[in-house]
Parts: sequence; C-alpha cells; structure tokens
Amino acid sequence: MKAAIFEGPPGSWPGKPLKVQEIPCPSPDVREVLVRVSACGICRTDLDYLKEGLRPPGKLPLVLGHEASGIVEQTGEGVKSYRRGDRVIICCIVPCGHCRPCMSGRENLCDAMDIIGASRHGAYAEHVAVPEKALVKLLPEIPLESGSLLSESLPTSYHAICDIGSVSAGNTVAIFGATGGLGLAAVQICSALGARTIAIGRTDWKLDMASKFGAWDTISAARTDRVDEKIIEVTHGGADAAIDMTGNSRMMEMACRSTRPGGKTVIVGYGMKNFEVPAKRLMWYELQVLGSRAFTHKNVLDVMRMVQEGRIRLDDLISHRLCLDEINEAFKLLDAGSVIRALVIP
Ligand SMILES: [Zn+2]
Ligand SMILES: [Zn+2]
Repeated sequence: MKAAIFEGPPGSWPGKPLKVQEIPCPSPDVREVLVRVSACGICRTDLDYLKEGLRPPGKLPLVLGHEASGIVEQTGEGVKSYRRGDRVIICCIVPCGHCRPCMSGRENLCDAMDIIGASRHGAYAEHVAVPEKALVKLLPEIPLESGSLLSESLPTSYHAICDIGSVSAGNTVAIFGATGGLGLAAVQICSALGARTIAIGRTDWKLDMASKFGAWDTISAARTDRVDEKIIEVTHGGADAAIDMTGNSRMMEMACRSTRPGGKTVIVGYGMKNFEVPAKRLMWYELQVLGSRAFTHKNVLDVMRMVQEGRIRLDDLISHRLCLDEINEAFKLLDAGSVIRALVIP
C-alpha cells in the first residue's frame, strides 16, 4: 500500500519532506480492525512534528495522520462489533480503559493512551490497522470524507465548549483563534447551541467565514492590540466564556481579561510559554481558568448527532482535498495559513 513516511528528525521539514512510498499493508491483530482510509485531515500537530521539532511519542520512521475516516476491510478474530464494509470514524485517542482517569469516565486524560498517527502508525496511508476501541460507527447520513472531521477537531471543540466551558443558549462566548480549523468548528457549535459568539483572529477572509458560520461579532487581532477591551465593550462587562485555541500566551492573557465576573476562561491551545493570570481578578471575579484536553467518545457521538440534525455543516469546513502524493504541498498550504481544513484522500 501507499503511505507517507515521516523519517525525521523532527524539525527537518520541508528540507526533508515526507516520503510517499509503497510499504506492506498491515494485518490486524486479534482485537484490531484494518480500515481502508477514505480521508485524513491535515493537522497542525503534525506540522509541529515536521517543522517545529516536537517529538512524537512513537518511534520513527512513522506514518503520521490521526484525523481519519474509512471503511472496515478486515477484522481480527476477537473483534465482534465491526464487520467488513462498516463506515467508521477513527478516534485518534485509544485509552487504556483501566487507569484512574479511564475508570472515572475521563479517558481523554488516560495515563497510558495510544495515539493513532503519533504513538503508532496513522492514516496518511491507504490502510491503517487500529484497535477496535478507537472506532465509532459513522451515521449513514454523514459522508465518509467530511466525517473525518469527527475524529478529532469537532469533538475537541465540543469538549472545550460544553464539558469545560458549560456554554448554553444565551451565553456570550469569545473564541480566540476562531480562524483555525478548531476555532471555526467552535463557532458553528456555539451558534448551534444558541450562544452568541465573538470570533477573534488575524485573517480577514477567515473572520468573514466565521460570520458566515454564525459569529455574532468579529474582532481582528491584527488591527487591535487590546482585544480584551473590545470584548468588554461589546458584551458590556465580559464574555461568559472565553476560549483560547491559539496556544499563544498573550492571547491566553487576553482571554482571562475578557471573561466576565463568574465566567470561565478555557485553554485549549497547546502552548509552551507561561502566561499571567491577574491574581486580583481571579479572586475578586471568581474567575475560573480551566484547561481542556482532547475529547471523549461521548463527545464524538454528541457532535455527530448535531451534524446529523443539520445543525453543523461539515463540508463548509473543508477547503482543500489533496491526494497522498501531494501531502507535502498540503502541509505547505497549512503552514502558509491558506487552509481551513485540508483533507488527504489516499
Ligand atoms: Zn489533529
Ligand atoms: Zn487509561
């Protein structure tokens, strides 16, 4: 089968591009399923491995790709819930199922999780073998290719908005980094929940997209330094929830400053730098600064239901479809900021 191989070292791309070549098709273990990949989303985390030097937990060379959907082709002898021909979403997180977080229903915090396309081979390939418990059946109304967005980005946004941010109808939500893949999904989810969304980003055409997806207001972080003041002004006192999806410490500070008294600041963006939370504000306003990591399988089911009901439009989130041979091109587009979501169709 054809696959895109990351030989490393991390940070050597684009000088050393991903190598698209023929490798043996994996055969599924007892509790594994072989999936014919229909689509796999190009994700910024992969660009962090390729370009920024972040080290994936698995051994190199590695097939990356963790946002996939596909059709079951073969099952291991121990697999009972899936059959050849089933349409599936491959959730990138494979929790161990028996550690303390897993036992308390917080499998997104599992101590010993496997991550498809990071700790084991992923889906920038024609086929991928994955543990049965990584799969969720795709509802028949949802197309396979766009269904790949349900494997990570949409449920991650959903978890931050609903489980951590407790957003409900009538709330005002400020989304920092609303112009990325996660952020634009977040705008749609918040609008579907009946919340008023303020989209913050740096790129005008993507802010226009956010408006089309139902954002109530937009703020360009390229044109104003004091996004917080703007938000406090338009909301008359601050957002009920301010969600950072940028990973940028300055934006995280802005998110804290633009949350109303009693509100929640949610950090979804993965950042390496510390940021300051004003101690006075934390106490005086009972500000809650909360982290949000990945998602649970329940989040996948919940957000898939919203798609089925037509409350979220997946196709509008996909800006590019490329074949496996064009994968380095896809990462260049992502790096240049010219994509909403690019899919590789192997
Ligand atoms: Zn991803
Ligand atoms: Zn676990």
